[in-house]
Amino acid sequence: MREIAGSPRILLKRLREIMAEALEPQERLDRIVREIAANMVAEVCSLYVLRADAVLELYATEGLNPGSVHLAQLRLGQGLVGTIAASARPLNLSDARHHPAFTYLPETGEEIYNSFLGVPVLRAGRTLGVLVVQNKTNRHYGDDEAEALETTAMVIAEMIATGDLRRLTRPGMELDLSRPVSLTGAAFNDGVGLGHVVLHEPRIVVTELFNEDVDQELRRLETALGSLRLSIDDMLSRREIAFEGEHRAVLEAYRMFAHDRGWVRRLEEAIRNGLTAEAAVEKVQSDMRARMLHMTDPYLRERMNDFDDLAYRLLRQLMGRGPEEIAAALPKDAIIVARSMGAAELLDYPRGKLRGLVLEEGAVTSHVVIVGKAMGIPVVGQAKGAVSMAENGDALIVDGDDGKVHLRPQPDVEAAYAEKVRFRAKKQQLYRELRDRPSVSKDGIAVELMMNAGLAVDLPQLSEAGAAGIGLFRSELQFMVAATFPRAQEQEKLYREVIEAAGSKPVTFRTIDIGGDKVLPYFRGAEKEENPALGWRAIRLTLDRPGLLRTQFRALLKAAAGRELRVMLPMVTEIGEITKARGLIEREVRQLARFGYALPTSLKLGAMIEVPSLLFQLPELMRAVDFVSIGSNDLFQFMTATDRGNGLLAGRFDPLSVPFLRVLKSVLDAGREAGKPVTLCGELASRPISAMALVGLGFRAISMSPAAIGPVKAMLADLPVGELEGLMIQLLKESAVDMDVPARLRAFADEFDISCET
Ligand code: PEP
Ligand code: MG
Repeated sequence: MREIAGSPRILLKRLREIMAEALEPQERLDRIVREIAANMVAEVCSLYVLRADAVLELYATEGLNPGSVHLAQLRLGQGLVGTIAASARPLNLSDARHHPAFTYLPETGEEIYNSFLGVPVLRAGRTLGVLVVQNKTNRHYGDDEAEALETTAMVIAEMIATGDLRRLTRPGMELDLSRPVSLTGAAFNDGVGLGHVVLHEPRIVVTELFNEDVDQELRRLETALGSLRLSIDDMLSRREIAFEGEHRAVLEAYRMFAHDRGWVRRLEEAIRNGLTAEAAVEKVQSDMRARMLHMTDPYLRERMNDFDDLAYRLLRQLMGRGPEEIAAALPKDAIIVARSMGAAELLDYPRGKLRGLVLEEGAVTSHVVIVGKAMGIPVVGQAKGAVSMAENGDALIVDGDDGKVHLRPQPDVEAAYAEKVRFRAKKQQLYRELRDRPSVSKDGIAVELMMNAGLAVDLPQLSEAGAAGIGLFRSELQFMVAATFPRAQEQEKLYREVIEAAGSKPVTFRTIDIGGDKVLPYFRGAEKEENPALGWRAIRLTLDRPGLLRTQFRALLKAAAGRELRVMLPMVTEIGEITKARGLIEREVRQLARFGYALPTSLKLGAMIEVPSLLFQLPELMRAVDFVSIGSNDLFQFMTATDRGNGLLAGRFDPLSVPFLRVLKSVLDAGREAGKPVTLCGELASRPISAMALVGLGFRAISMSPAAIGPVKAMLADLPVGELEGLMIQLLKESAVDMDVPARLRAFADEFDISCET
């Protein structure tokens, strides 16, 4: 090692003393740069801090012209300092002036310095500034010196992150860390939430940076690594929802990393340089993340995320922070920000404190998104960068209508959203007032407004929204958020809970609709399918695995003892499927009767109309069932050959079109002829304008998401059904099938002053 380099340990010790002193931030910075320069025998040490306007401002210097502090500036990417900040990589040059990126700032007087070592000031992979040392001679800085400077930079990063330097900023030149950021992701669940960031894997603020005793710190690291490895093994051996399928693969990766020698060696090195074990974890992680930022390989980036999670876990081990403490510290307006998370993990947060969920990943069909919907919180997914941009406690707005996330919003943005939220709250109040009123049209026609549900967390909505019952209970959701097939008793328990919550209101249970995009990680029934939406799913699958269906039937029959049981079958394609299912459920009835179980007072078996083939055998279908319910989501996707989850096609075709309305009408007619009730339970029922069209067509019972009941009820109260029926007949008769039906309906709503807002 070069003689001229002071020991990093001595430097860190000096820095600790400076940090402990009661100093003004500028004075503290000045002392720090002076100390670094002296320790590294450098003529210059300067700190540049990144501002929100992407300019690096000289915040402190030893050696350069002191008058240039807070005046000298470089753009991100400009000069050596800007290059370091943009690339998040150090530059170590013995002849800096001949480097192509060298930019000379005359006010600093730095033209006389030849050698240059600069490192990024990093926190959680984000660049907050650049720390530089310079010498006149063509000096070669050693790797150990670069390492020491990086460690020092970490101390400064903490100073910046904890807000120490904010007092040195001028208006309009705020630090990058407090910059407002807007991200656009995917809207997964409607609603707007204003609140404060809660990182699901909290970025722990390491307060103790410097160690007193290297050996003790190395032992602490070893113990924590040991417990970390044990906890991973433990998770792998348990079979919990959050740890199945993909999560399992992630855990396997964790296990590998937790034994990674390179990682452990870097951690130990940082401790030997004077950091505490916690600070070492943060430093190594930050360096690694910054280096990986420029990698485009999605696999490697994904692995980096795993590594991040692992580092957080290790930090928690070191700091002894358990989930209970984290929950207790939750603000009352928490917006959870996570890369991804398991459904069960979201359920761990108290609903009363949640205002929203932001995910860097996720899809509409992710379990956590399903649970978020059931909890009724706004959800935005695919918000890339959210985790590294956010700090715990930052103000945040999640706009689940538009898929936008506003981090540290400007006052005008915040005011606009606060207004939106107030407006919604006012409307919610209006809907609450409607809650106990009968749902009848202006001209006195009663329409039953039912809600769709699928989990126990949905049930309070029955009375909150004022639903007439549950028109669609998606029983597969219980299967989707479980780690293994829910046992018969667990199914029965949930069904009983649902029936009890509904009281005298009817509930229609749908048999499990798995397959397609609803995959159960623990069910390896099918090979990967080319077209899962058209594949082995729903009734097709359960008829092939009759054990599944029989268990579910038995659980339903037992849970509904003494009352009417309504069951419907998803994705029916031909009548034979209904006949087979009826055979199975009747067999269960006989079995239960033989063993003396109490039975439902009556059994109604229905079919969902989702596959177009049923439309051409309506009279036969009606004879085979007690009722039908149109699953307009699937029926529309199959009629128009458009994948319902494909964003490129979203909104391209409208179900409010002559052909689709004709289909709906034909089902209603066939039902009326056969004396069988026809309802509809797809998303079509959830928008007031389309719900209006359904009522105009003749539907007298529809099922929708709970949040839609208020708006649809308000629409109904204004609606003269008689007038609308006239218009609908006219629309369906007209030969121009490319007519703009939605425009006609809107004109009708305007004419009669019908509230059709969502
Ligand atoms: C439908 O397809 O319209 C329906 C209600 O079922 P799901 O949305 O669960 O497929
Ligand atoms: Mg469906």
